[in-house]
Amino acid sequence: MVSGLHKGIIKKLGGAICIMLLVLLVVGCGEERNQPQEKEQMEEHKQPEEQDVKPDPNDELPEDDAENDTEKQDDQVVEEVTKPKEIDYQVVKPNELGHIMVIMYHGILDNYPYHVTEEQFLKDLQYMYEKGYRPISMRDYLDNHITVEAGYTPIVLTFDDGLESTFSMVEENGELVPKTGTAVEIMERFAKDYPEFGKEATFYINGGKIFDGAGTVEERLNWLVDNGYGLGNHTATHKHLGKSGVTSRDIMAELGKVDQLIKNAIPGYTVDSITYPFGARPKEALRAFIKEGEFDGNLYQYQVGFREGASGPYYPPLHTKFSPLNVARARGSEGEAQDMWWFFDYYEKHPEKKYISDGRADRVSILEGMEEYMNKEKLGDKELFTYKIESEE
Ligand SMILES: [Zn+2]
Repeated sequence: MVSGLHKGIIKKLGGAICIMLLVLLVVGCGEERNQPQEKEQMEEHKQPEEQDVKPDPNDELPEDDAENDTEKQDDQVVEEVTKPKEIDYQVVKPNELGHIMVIMYHGILDNYPYHVTEEQFLKDLQYMYEKGYRPISMRDYLDNHITVEAGYTPIVLTFDDGLESTFSMVEENGELVPKTGTAVEIMERFAKDYPEFGKEATFYINGGKIFDGAGTVEERLNWLVDNGYGLGNHTATHKHLGKSGVTSRDIMAELGKVDQLIKNAIPGYTVDSITYPFGARPKEALRAFIKEGEFDGNLYQYQVGFREGASGPYYPPLHTKFSPLNVARARGSEGEAQDMWWFFDYYEKHPEKKYISDGRADRVSILEGMEEYMNKEKLGDKELFTYKIESEE
């Protein structure tokens, strides 16, 4: 859910909340950034901050026994904030080394299978919603910061090429809003109808035309980030990086230009994922220039590169088999073997392969015996929790 920029905002908000709570309740916060219900808590806390003249009704404690009540309230708040939901492992069966699909979309056009119509896109979202998939941001995917509810499966939506039908804005009552029928507007609409599904997607842009409609390129990119979406690099000229003749200088120019464009539009934003045009990675000797390079005096660093087409399995970033510069993406289509709907069907038949969340970002829950497939370096300060599925007899 969180872009670099949003993290900053959350941090600020967190700071404001800390001060408020310290004054009111003499209680700290800020350690609990990874709690599953963080989103809701942030929403609740936002209100008093925004209208800071209006006191919280909870503040109006009778003065004589204020101390007592404050203590009581203190406990309550601490409990609410720190106690993660316990789940029944035998029912939820979390599998946090299971597959997380990454989907590749382009535009909303009647030009299957690289593009989808609005009708088809809504059908995709509806299926995801009903079958327990929940979109997560690229940031959270890469950081293994997965906050989808217990029992649900994260899915990552990506859109390449910065197309007009993916995102355009129009001016409405002096405000810029997504144009009806674009991918962004459809996702916004869907999230209003199904708030628990939410909206998360990452847009991979090139250096030429970047979306369309009202507003400047900067305004478009900022609108996306301000509204919770992510941005990534798809090279300046949509270059086939795997062709012979491609040099390290070409790669640095292709990545560096778009990298700089995004960072200029949104100062402080972290761009660290790329989708290879045509799904083509550079030759092995040149791959280091995806990870790190320099163009025009500016440095860039990329954590992850996505290919496309018939591929999989969708190992999550925490899995030892996750290969950061060669990550699979499924085409968002019903068409062929190993397109998205092929995998939907596969996971219906093999639900044990899917990532199933334990609902907690501070814990990684896996079946006993799976430890060897976990990249322990990436575990960070999360708790590793292993469990056994008890026999049903
Ligand atoms: Zn492309």
